[in-house]
Amino acid sequence: MRGILLPYYCRGREIGLDSLILASVSSPIGLARLAECLEHFLLSFPKPQTMQLGVLSGKVAMVTASTQGIGLAIARRLARDGAQVVISSRKKESVCNAVGQLQAEGLSVSGIVCHVGKREDREALVSETLKRHGAIDILVSNAAVNPFVGKALDCSEEAWDKIFEINVKAAFLLAKLVVPHMEQRGGGSIVLVSSAAGYQPIANIGPYSVSKTALLGLTKVLATELAPANIRVNCLAPGIIKTKFSSVLWSDDSSMQEFDGTIAMRRIGEPEECAGTVSFLCSQDAVYITGETIVVAGGAYCRL
Ligand code: NAP
Repeated sequence: MRGILLPYYCRGREIGLDSLILASVSSPIGLARLAECLEHFLLSFPKPQTMQLGVLSGKVAMVTASTQGIGLAIARRLARDGAQVVISSRKKESVCNAVGQLQAEGLSVSGIVCHVGKREDREALVSETLKRHGAIDILVSNAAVNPFVGKALDCSEEAWDKIFEINVKAAFLLAKLVVPHMEQRGGGSIVLVSSAAGYQPIANIGPYSVSKTALLGLTKVLATELAPANIRVNCLAPGIIKTKFSSVLWSDDSSMQEFDGTIAMRRIGEPEECAGTVSFLCSQDAVYITGETIVVAGGAYCRL
């Protein structure tokens, strides 16, 4: 089955969709397999787009957890600013939708399924990016989970481990995987997505807040160690941003009232309002900035 379809798939761009469908219908392959191959084809190859000229032209960027919310906004912005972007998350359907959405906007993106907690997925993300683009210049580590709400001492060991495995360890392991390729390229830029909660823990999400504090430390450590290799490591610390992840904080009025007085701008942020900061940190304009965290929180109280 593979033998029949693969040549068509490989040359899919040359022979066109019509021939691919004809070839499949007239063979025992079946439409399901055809759909699977088409999906793989669409995800793997950024459609040829008009070249985006911008501050990130010629750069290759990997953004984790980038099929919705802040990650998707970052992926879109990096692509608009000229980078070739590989987006990813756990669910194939989410990846397909996000790739389709950004490609329809004329952006140079492709996608791959990557659960950052799985070693094989992290390795595949890096190797596929290299296969498709020949280099990695930018890593945005954006994935995080929060499986526990309540008093910190009530958090189970399993939930604590999950939080640190995804939010901290996976960011470290991804950085470890991309650094040799950035070194080969003569430099690069890593942005870790933390949270304002990393500075000022939010009530009832203590373990998550502590994991985000750990990222502030990881940023400093990696920035120092990687500066000689011309790899800059910085951090984004969003305040409350309107996404599915934070919906418990903003979806009803009473929860919002808790935060109202603490946000100088008296509103929560939008994912797009985080994205430009990441693009800036990855750009030449930030060439002398490393080990920093930029808080994007509408003036929310979180540090001096
Ligand atoms: P979101 O809108 O809920 O999006 C979460 C994304 O993460 C989805 O694309 C999801 O796709 C993906 N994802 C979840 N688990 C994953 C995993 N293990 N591996 C890979 N991808 C995974 O979330 P968000 O609010 O944009 O949050 C993004 C980052 O911003 C997080 O690091 C979060 O801590 C941080 N942050 C958010 C806020 C806020 O108020 N929203 C504030 C401060 C910091 P799949 O389901 O397909 O995997």
